[in-house]
Amino acid sequence: MTANTFDVLNPATEEVIQTVPLAGLADVDAAITKAAAAYQKWREVAPADRSLLLRRFATAVDRDLENLAQLEVRNAGHTIGNARWEAGNVRDVLNYYSAAPERHFGKQIPVAGGVNVTFHEPLGVVGVIVPWNFPMPIAGWGFAPALAAGNTVVLKPAEVTPLTAMRLGELALEAGLPEGVFQVIPGKGSIVGQRFVTHPAVRKVVFTGSTGVGKQIMAGCANQVKRVTLELGGKSANIIFEDADLELAAASAPASAFDNAGQDCCSRSRILVQRSVYDRFLELLEPAVLGITVGDPADAATTMGPLISAQQRSTVASFVPDGAPVAFQGKAPEGPGFWFPPTVLTPNLNAPSFTDEIFGPVVAVVPFDDEAGAIRIANNTEYGLSGSIWTSTVDRALRVARAVESGNLSVNSHSSVRYSTPFGGFKQSGLGRELGPDALDSFTETKNVFISTAPN
Ligand code: NAD
Repeated sequence: MTANTFDVLNPATEEVIQTVPLAGLADVDAAITKAAAAYQKWREVAPADRSLLLRRFATAVDRDLENLAQLEVRNAGHTIGNARWEAGNVRDVLNYYSAAPERHFGKQIPVAGGVNVTFHEPLGVVGVIVPWNFPMPIAGWGFAPALAAGNTVVLKPAEVTPLTAMRLGELALEAGLPEGVFQVIPGKGSIVGQRFVTHPAVRKVVFTGSTGVGKQIMAGCANQVKRVTLELGGKSANIIFEDADLELAAASAPASAFDNAGQDCCSRSRILVQRSVYDRFLELLEPAVLGITVGDPADAATTMGPLISAQQRSTVASFVPDGAPVAFQGKAPEGPGFWFPPTVLTPNLNAPSFTDEIFGPVVAVVPFDDEAGAIRIANNTEYGLSGSIWTSTVDRALRVARAVESGNLSVNSHSSVRYSTPFGGFKQSGLGRELGPDALDSFTETKNVFISTAPN
């Protein structure tokens, strides 16, 4: 590896799978200049033609779905089932927003003396900064609505997971998107990502990643009053009441915490169980956790792959020191690969494993006494991204859903992200919303135009 390249590893084997050139400052500036030039033409493309190009992009992704999925298995250690879903999600998000250009209506507002109309004007160049945990979907949630609204996009994947994003860049060109409309720039956060913040031609930054870096980005964007969307960390609660279907709640809890080896901002990594059913819940949870198959992510029978890196594994391991209150722990392969077994802890409420985002397959289970206590524990965090509520009582489900300070809640299930519904965090889990019918509003400015009808 030279200073300007990065050796991309397979986290299941630790082998180098590709060496990728990293962009320097001059490369980023050139890409931004190209995107700014392309913007002038892209915003003028007729709505129906922009729609058609996005649908062609979706079709190109669909044709390449298996290749994209296999790339993600090798690069990110995602299970093949997950990786296929993720590539399909990019296709679906493109298709969803391909309908938007022709339906991006302004308003005609009644006023005296003339006609008043509003327009949604695109912003210009949008910089999208992506983390390593879901390289494909998170990229698509940024670039698809941004492009649909008439912006051009420069996208920086995470250093360790650039391969699928680079392929998506090629597919966009194959689908007929004009040069410069969608560019993928692998590189360091401190160089490429930071330049999105400081370059005046980049009019908006869409950042998904850690809360610490998100705060720096927001502070940097303030300098130019640059628009910013932040999707940050989480420590979401899975609240299980005594009247819940306990079997179902226990059977589904492992996937809600350990999907993608727990490297999921929406991971329900705190399980809150009403004290009267706490012991029974743990009894039911144990076989579900021990039944997780950790291993080769390319094998369709595998339910959990490796962590992304040696560094991530040592961070995760630091939350499970010798003497940690381990209730039970599954198995993981030994030898090469960044493996960590699914682990269930029963810590106290101020232990770091209960308060901090671990971003690995470690879940903490604690008891609560009543509804007010559950809400208090759930909200006692700076995060507020997602969460689940298990109960058979409708009024309780609604009361608790309204009381939990979180952007995405799910009753008697663990769904978090659908492309047709808004997604984002309360408190320090983020700023703004992605996806859903209103996403284009975050990629446009509202312009008000009054036309006098008074006789001259
Ligand atoms: P990270 O903050 O380290 O990096 C995210 C991206 O930002 C990477 O592309 C990185 O290169 C870039 N970056 C780093 N420093 C930068 C800087 N100074 N300026 C500009 N860009 C910079 O996060 P990560 O470790 O890759 O991802 C894990 C985090 O992401 C977790 O906290 C997780 O909860 C969060 N996440 C949130 C969501 C959500 O939707 N809310 C989704 C996925 C992940």
